[in-house]
Amino acid sequence: GGGGGGGAKDERIVVSVRLRPLNDKEIYNREPCEWDCMNDNTIVFRNSLPERSMFPVSYTFDRVFGCECPTWRVYDEAAREVALSVVNGINSSVFAYGQTSSGKTYTMSAVTEYSLKDIYDHVQNKSDKREFVLKFSAMEIYNEAVRDLLSHDTTPLRLLDDPDRGTVVDRLTEETLKDWNHVKQLLSLCEAQRQIGETSLNETSSRSHQIIRLTVESSARHFLGKNSSNSLCATANFVDLAGSERASQTMTAGARLKEGCHINRSLLTLGTVIRKLSKGRSGGHIPYRDSKLTRILHSSLDGNARTAIICTMSPARSYVEQSRKTLLFASCAK
Ligand code: ADP
Ligand code: MG
Repeated sequence: GGGGGGGAKDERIVVSVRLRPLNDKEIYNREPCEWDCMNDNTIVFRNSLPERSMFPVSYTFDRVFGCECPTWRVYDEAAREVALSVVNGINSSVFAYGQTSSGKTYTMSAVTEYSLKDIYDHVQNKSDKREFVLKFSAMEIYNEAVRDLLSHDTTPLRLLDDPDRGTVVDRLTEETLKDWNHVKQLLSLCEAQRQIGETSLNETSSRSHQIIRLTVESSARHFLGKNSSNSLCATANFVDLAGSERASQTMTAGARLKEGCHINRSLLTLGTVIRKLSKGRSGGHIPYRDSKLTRILHSSLDGNARTAIICTMSPARSYVEQSRKTLLFASCAK
């Protein structure tokens, strides 16, 4: 935990909060903005509700971003270092967490593209010494079914346990990247595929998780593919989570997980896993196997892996309860 300005450096889990601006509807409804960024690390509740004594008024994180902050700065200060660790053979995951309409997709789509560009450029510059292969894949988890976002086939994919590689998504499309334009094409394909799902199933994006995954293999020039001790392989994951309203606080205390009743098993399990990871060794058994999302991300969360969690929230009064839950989640992740 902790750390002052710039304290995000080298931490295993970097937690930040981003406030989005009030939207037109909220402005039209004259909703007041309930939260302020006091400094780079602290967000405060403006304290204007009668029940104000019910919860703390200020929360501290590695980084807090106000509603005027551009996404490139959010990327630079909350995700860049974590995402780039993949080029050194360290697995990483960057998550957007927050209620529906709080800005997860807005933030994550740009953060993903900036990350991919930085990794791509890094590899181009380094490739006289090492040889790199970048592989792109993308999937969506909806109701605990995994779908390939690079394929038009919507048949759910199975997860297999590989003795060497851990959990593998069977038959997931992996594209070896040719150039930067190829990345742009794949990103738009994912976006289109996600929207197709959305028209056929109500509210998909609030219930589904999207994972964009980049695998970076590298080796000193002469050894690539020869399984030498000189080769590195790591994955970077960019995860746009289901709306956090799907992980009701009242359901977390050992209650049975029921699908189809608005509770999202993957989201709840991820919360438990991250809380336990943040406690270090004292956290006890970590239930990776309890959901598809945590099985898929297992090797990118444990061990040396690095994690960035960007929690997004609306400043509006009507969302205060949800925003407070998001901040509690963020606090527990530290
Ligand atoms: P979510 O994915 O969490 O449901 P979205 O990312 O779709 O939310 O954001 C909801 C709306 O708010 C979108 O119209 C989006 O463009 C807008 N929005 C979100 N965050 C910001 C921001 N930081 N600045 C400006 N507009 C934003
Ligand atoms: Mg979204």
